[in-house]
Amino acid sequence: MYKLYCRLYQLVFRIAMYLLPWREPKLIQGKNSLSQLPVLLEAEQIKHILLVTDQTIKHLDFFNKLTEALASKHIQFFIFDEVIPNPTIENIEAGRRAFLDKKCHAIVAIGGGSVIDCAKGIAARIAKPNKTVPELKGQLKIRKEVPKLFAIPTTAGTGSEATVAAVISNSETLEKYPINDLVLIPYVAILDPIITIKLPPMITSTTGMDALTHAVEAYIGKSNTPLTRQYSLEAVRIIFSYLEEAYKDGKNIEARAKMQLAAYKAGVAFTRAYVGNIHAIAHTLGGYYQIPHGLANAVIMPYILRFYGNKVYKALAELADAAGIASEEMTEQHKAEAFIEAIEKMNKNMNIPTKLDGIRLEDIPTLVKRARSEANPLYPVPIIMNEEEMTSIYLALRS
Ligand code: NAD
Repeated sequence: MYKLYCRLYQLVFRIAMYLLPWREPKLIQGKNSLSQLPVLLEAEQIKHILLVTDQTIKHLDFFNKLTEALASKHIQFFIFDEVIPNPTIENIEAGRRAFLDKKCHAIVAIGGGSVIDCAKGIAARIAKPNKTVPELKGQLKIRKEVPKLFAIPTTAGTGSEATVAAVISNSETLEKYPINDLVLIPYVAILDPIITIKLPPMITSTTGMDALTHAVEAYIGKSNTPLTRQYSLEAVRIIFSYLEEAYKDGKNIEARAKMQLAAYKAGVAFTRAYVGNIHAIAHTLGGYYQIPHGLANAVIMPYILRFYGNKVYKALAELADAAGIASEEMTEQHKAEAFIEAIEKMNKNMNIPTKLDGIRLEDIPTLVKRARSEANPLYPVPIIMNEEEMTSIYLALRS
């Protein structure tokens, strides 16, 4: 009965999705495209911005160049650099105060998914001053114009520069959850490969695997569309061709640019076609233990894809074709298995472990409850997992 309710709920959202005013951000891409930001702000007559970032990014060369370029165009900026990985409600509230105190007109987020999500949270709270962050959790709770958001990803993974989601952590309850609303799709996204060349190998690999997880979950879910399928296939093709190269040689601009594009496309795909059980589990591990999101997804993905079994053979076989790892004579099942094995191989080649440290046995019942309530009824997953099935995945993940 519960499964029927979930499938009906997903059907309603699937139909509603065609009626919603979807858009993509205005996309600016290419080597040194970051230099276009001040010109763009000037053209939009934006004179005061909140520049949201974190302590690492603030000290990188491109950040200094950006602030110099902003100053030369007489654009006033206030740097809010308090964002932490898995950004918290406190981060958002501090950023909101800064936005209001400094009388900003727009928000520029330059950083990984954590920075962009924090910026989205700030924008949401500016639009909804009387609602707390926990009250904005879930679907379409904002529905009001937010300050213009310019998103400049410095990792190639989350796709947050293209999505409706801001994923927020509650440091008191240890929950981590998305706020989803179309108004949170950034106004502009700038993909400049130069700003990702200092990304350390481990962050390159795990954020790249995050993008792969988006493409895969969007593709195997039941609410995909021709466009999301096309974007997922393109993302998978690119990731299998370029992620290991970007990991091995961070200065390879072509590989960096391709990975940014893959992350963006996978972001557009999953924001319309949803993620699934892999993400629901990863969010619980981020909330409870601050396990980096991409790392969690990379490790969890093979376990969940194997659990789905023949329900996903056809979809995974198509992804295997896109990845260039299948041959014509292979059956769907063989292609699907080859795809999962190729993910494991890629993880191994990039020193991503097969298990995760720190999962405490006594926490598992709460983690299972939270993951199931994130996944259901919303995510159109191939199999709606029961408590026992979900528990077995957490047990298998423990190192
Ligand atoms: P992150 O933003 O947490 O950054 C990880 C680390 O990498 C940080 O220490 C950061 O300072 C550093 N870093 C970032 N760019 C760098 C660069 N160019 N050079 C050197 N260091 C750099 O990591 P992330 O994976 O991009 O984002 C993860 C967050 O995004 C999680 O909270 C996750 O839940 C969320 N997320 C959001 C969406 C969405 O649609 N909104 C989708 C997926 C994930």
